[in-house]
Amino acid sequence: MTMLKDDDMITAAISRYQRRAGFSRVAPRAALIDMDGTLYDSMGNHADAWHRMMTELGVATTRDEFFLYEGMTGAATINLLFRRAFDRDATAGEVGELYHRKTVYFTELPAVNPMPGAAEMLDFLASEGVRRVLVTGSGQSSLIGRLAEDFPGAFNPGDMITARDVTRGKPHPEPYLKAMSLAGVEPWQAIVLENAPLGVEAGAASGAFTIGVTTGPVPRQALVEAGADLVFPSMTECAAALPRLFNAF
Ligand code: CA
Repeated sequence: MTMLKDDDMITAAISRYQRRAGFSRVAPRAALIDMDGTLYDSMGNHADAWHRMMTELGVATTRDEFFLYEGMTGAATINLLFRRAFDRDATAGEVGELYHRKTVYFTELPAVNPMPGAAEMLDFLASEGVRRVLVTGSGQSSLIGRLAEDFPGAFNPGDMITARDVTRGKPHPEPYLKAMSLAGVEPWQAIVLENAPLGVEAGAASGAFTIGVTTGPVPRQALVEAGADLVFPSMTECAAALPRLFNAF
């Protein structure tokens, strides 16, 4: 990704964003940040837990397909697979029970680690006075509860939008629009950080400058096609490039 390190590439990405979003400038006051696969290296465990739960239910899935559903709420993922396997939506009771089972399997797996580079990314945003808001499709408290410990001071209490706060999860822009409303900013005053195609799609549709970071098996091109304004090959490289990006803004 040497090309992306080029300041010209950053300038071009900003120009493209301004054309697509219809804003004459970008002046970030808030960063809207996804959790799984962005702040935590947790997607492998999520995929394992989903795959185990669905296999026990008798629904054929592949482990890798869950990387593509990343960002959807648990209910949306369960319904998608129910429609495929049983030609119907799950009942509310089934959703509750199955999502609970998946959550139990997730917590039984070895603890996940913070994503390398995530702390540096958050520190840089803090140094620029950019408010950090967590935006996650997850309703799992196990990781949300670790944030204050793993990233001390990075998020003010209440600066988060979770699955409980939205009626339409990613790829719908609602989670990001709610986060902007929470932070009191317009789309041109926000940046989105995401690792998954559906999350990038939600960020781009919200009108914010959307940064994709590839941290798992989903290829760079999938994030480009989902509408990412800029894509980095790792969170470490993203964190290293943020000062130049903010200069260019
Ligand atoms: Ca994610």
